[in-house]
Amino acid sequence: MKRAFITGITGQDGSYLAELLLLKGYEVHGLVRRASSFNTGRIDHVYQDARDPDARLFLHHGDMTDGVRLLTLLGAIAPDEVYNLAGQSHVRESFDQPRFTAEIVAMGTLHLLEAIRHSRVACRFYQAGSSDMFGDSAPPHTELSLLAPRSPEATAKAYAHWTTRNYREGYDLFAVNGIAFNHESPRRGETFVTRKISQAVARIQAGRQDFLYLGDLSPVRDWGYAPEYVEGMWRTLQQDEPDDYVLATGTGHPVQDFVEAAFDHAGLDWDRHVRFDERYLRPTEVVELLGVPDKAAEKLGWRATVQMAELARIMVDADVAALEHEGRH
Ligand code: GDP
Repeated sequence: MKRAFITGITGQDGSYLAELLLLKGYEVHGLVRRASSFNTGRIDHVYQDARDPDARLFLHHGDMTDGVRLLTLLGAIAPDEVYNLAGQSHVRESFDQPRFTAEIVAMGTLHLLEAIRHSRVACRFYQAGSSDMFGDSAPPHTELSLLAPRSPEATAKAYAHWTTRNYREGYDLFAVNGIAFNHESPRRGETFVTRKISQAVARIQAGRQDFLYLGDLSPVRDWGYAPEYVEGMWRTLQQDEPDDYVLATGTGHPVQDFVEAAFDHAGLDWDRHVRFDERYLRPTEVVELLGVPDKAAEKLGWRATVQMAELARIMVDADVAALEHEGRH
């Protein structure tokens, strides 16, 4: 049985990846931050009591800032595959908490790579890179495009990206950089723009809210469906050689298009409900992120099939259903 270790298992991608790996027969270990309230809502449905002889999902308390803990855990678990999905991934938030973001995203990745190197566990490593690293770089973006990050989150991801490459080349680690463009789902954090929109649409339709306050609607993003992206991540580690891969749909849309698709699907007129709030502007904005997923298609046989409008429908439907469920209880 293969063993995987996932940092960020309680997040959107971590939860989908855990589901995928469990389906593939893996034993899955996840790193979870201790908090006084539970933070495992996205994986509770696949969790089994560790005393159950059939249990294959195990959670370990720890933190990306604690390199010794990572080293000890790696030694104890001896995973075949490590997926580094932990992070403070919210761009706007990273301007308010740049130091914290760098500690988790940049230093955290360094701690994990050092732990792999020094524990000598023979594992493959996936680094969850982000399209935000391209920043100001001219679109469309390939694996060879210049990294020109424009936020503390993106500079930290760029550090992690280059450190992963250097460990691959310098220490002969099977270390892969995935560069995933924005990927969303009903499990997306509630302050990312797509989820913020889908939740607001559901609440407006139910008469519980009148207005949705947003920032700049002009930036272009390449939005895909998160469950498809975790399949791509897994495939990057099943190759003969480690490499870097862009995971994207290849199609870009301004935020405005997502707004319209989501409101249209609920039969609402977006113009009457969307208002501008400058608090959601960033000191430096990324105008356009657009990926070229050709290498992933050729080498991994991976393609994103869900495009923006369908994604908006999936997310609105899920938030409408969640509100109805909430109303019944
Ligand atoms: P990002 O691409 O990783 O920054 O993902 P987000 O979902 O946070 O933001 C996508 C785009 O939507 C960015 O260009 C934001 O500036 C823009 N945007 C406009 N209004 C909002 C808002 O109210 N919240 C967020 N999160 N983003 C917004």
